[in-house]
Amino acid sequence: MSAPPIDHPDRIRSVVIVGGGTAGWMTAAALAKILGPRYADITLIESEEIGTVGVGEATIPQIRLFNDMLGLDENDFVRRTQGSFKLGIEFVDWGKKGDRYIHPFGRYGLDMEGVSFHAFYLKARAAGETHDLADYSLEASAARAGRFMRAIQAGNSPLSKIAYAFHFDAGLYARYLREYSEARGVVRCEGKVADVTLRPADGFVEAVVMDDGTRIEADLFIDCSGFRGLLIEQALGTGYDDWSKWLPCDRALAVPCESAGPPTPFTRSTARTAGWQWRIPLQHRIGNGYVYSSGYISDEEAATTLLANLDGKALADPRPLKFVTGRRRKFWNRNVVALGLASGFMEPLESTSIHLVQAGIAKLMVMFPDRRFASAGIDRYNRIVGEEYERIRDFLVLHYNTTTRDDSPFWDYVRTMEVPDGLAEKYALYRDNGRIFRENDELFSDTSWFAVMAGQNLWPATHDPVADVLSDQEVARRLGNMRGVYRTCLDQMPSHADFIAAHCAAN
Ligand SMILES: Cc1cc2nc3c(=O)[nH]c(=O)nc-3n(C[C@H](O)[C@H](O)[C@H](O)COP(=O)(O)OP(=O)(O)OC[C@H]3O[C@@H](n4cnc5c(N)ncnc54)[C@H](O)[C@@H]3O)c2cc1C
Repeated sequence: MSAPPIDHPDRIRSVVIVGGGTAGWMTAAALAKILGPRYADITLIESEEIGTVGVGEATIPQIRLFNDMLGLDENDFVRRTQGSFKLGIEFVDWGKKGDRYIHPFGRYGLDMEGVSFHAFYLKARAAGETHDLADYSLEASAARAGRFMRAIQAGNSPLSKIAYAFHFDAGLYARYLREYSEARGVVRCEGKVADVTLRPADGFVEAVVMDDGTRIEADLFIDCSGFRGLLIEQALGTGYDDWSKWLPCDRALAVPCESAGPPTPFTRSTARTAGWQWRIPLQHRIGNGYVYSSGYISDEEAATTLLANLDGKALADPRPLKFVTGRRRKFWNRNVVALGLASGFMEPLESTSIHLVQAGIAKLMVMFPDRRFASAGIDRYNRIVGEEYERIRDFLVLHYNTTTRDDSPFWDYVRTMEVPDGLAEKYALYRDNGRIFRENDELFSDTSWFAVMAGQNLWPATHDPVADVLSDQEVARRLGNMRGVYRTCLDQMPSHADFIAAHCAAN
């Protein structure tokens, strides 16, 4: 028996996605899965000639929710994208040269008596505790030891809640999602958008015009056209807030290189003279890049530094990318929603861009419009996406601003700059007695904030007074037990390479 027709009078009947990078295909796949072809015609326009950014290879654990929502088989996905697993990010030379710490996924230790773990860690530290924070995180210990496995059913054991994400080849991921989307009715249209026409009455986008003159109309347009923001900026002139005064890096050079050994289960970020270098291990190669500020280093010097710091032979010439850190003033303007690089950009220091695509899609689905495009839903979307951007921005600024490096004008600038108000408030709370509060639905938890603050040697004046519910001896005893549990768990984990070989080796 066929299903009854869907007959909401103002239902969105056609969606056009402009752009077939990671953002475009993630959006297409999600809409195809959630709405299905009976709800609306979904068309994706992309231009092979223009191509994609082609970087964006490290993720955070939330991507697993997205892939699960699509119903992807994880082993198949890792195999098809030459993927590897990620337990966190190692930061090298950030606090000062010679420093090294891991910002792990998951949580540190256990909260006790309703008080956070990190409050007890700070209390113990004041009493002489010298153990590394990584000893209280299975993800961090496993990352250091090159081990990985997925969570298993093991009661209260840390082995039952291993938090992880992936490194993958962005181009292969987009291809994978394209196959998924086309199988679910998404129509792909190859060619360049040459023009955009607006409805005279209200300035809504009416159609995009391809370079062969074809007009493609839709009720709703999703702008995934990358930095150029073809609809959101070039057609609608939405405006952009520039955040370079807090995040002055404005260029990147990206280069893949040969692997030298098995892939590490973590991303590495190494601070350099005028920015930082990423290292993202995949099964078939390592992705590398130097994110830098053109005001403090020349392109040639950045390329020399990058090429001198690769694990293996470079597989291509360094690819230059330019960007302005910031966000669109509106992410959703009239009948256009911008996702991915078209919506704004923050450097990949905490691998948040793909997450922002996913989060934007999730919020769009919660506030999916009809053809009346009521302003209340649009305003709310813009407010909550804007808040998410700002919280992430503050977390990124933290990494730069808490450095003690004074070996270059770049580090002098970021160390002494005025920080955004939200971050200044976080500092004030933490500096007093180590308290960290998660702002509403902010992406990064207190574990993340503490990992970076402690990792960069930012310590409070004293510990949280409530941690005195336990004596020094009792805290030391319980912390010792925790370390023991993590060590035992670590012993049960296979190497990352063995895990991949057993479950998801690419052909
Ligand atoms: C240096 C750097 C490193 C990054 N690293 C990470 C990371 O580690 N983790 C992470 O999560 N994110 C990272 N990102 C961000 C990530 O790459 C992007 O968020 C992601 O790839 C999405 O890009 P996009 O699809 O928005 O844009 P793009 O990849 O630029 O795609 C734009 C699409 O629009 C199409 N298009 C444009 N104009 C037209 C036109 N006129 N007609 C037709 N089609 C058109 C193009 O053909 C293309 O298909 C990084 C970004 C940069 C710059």
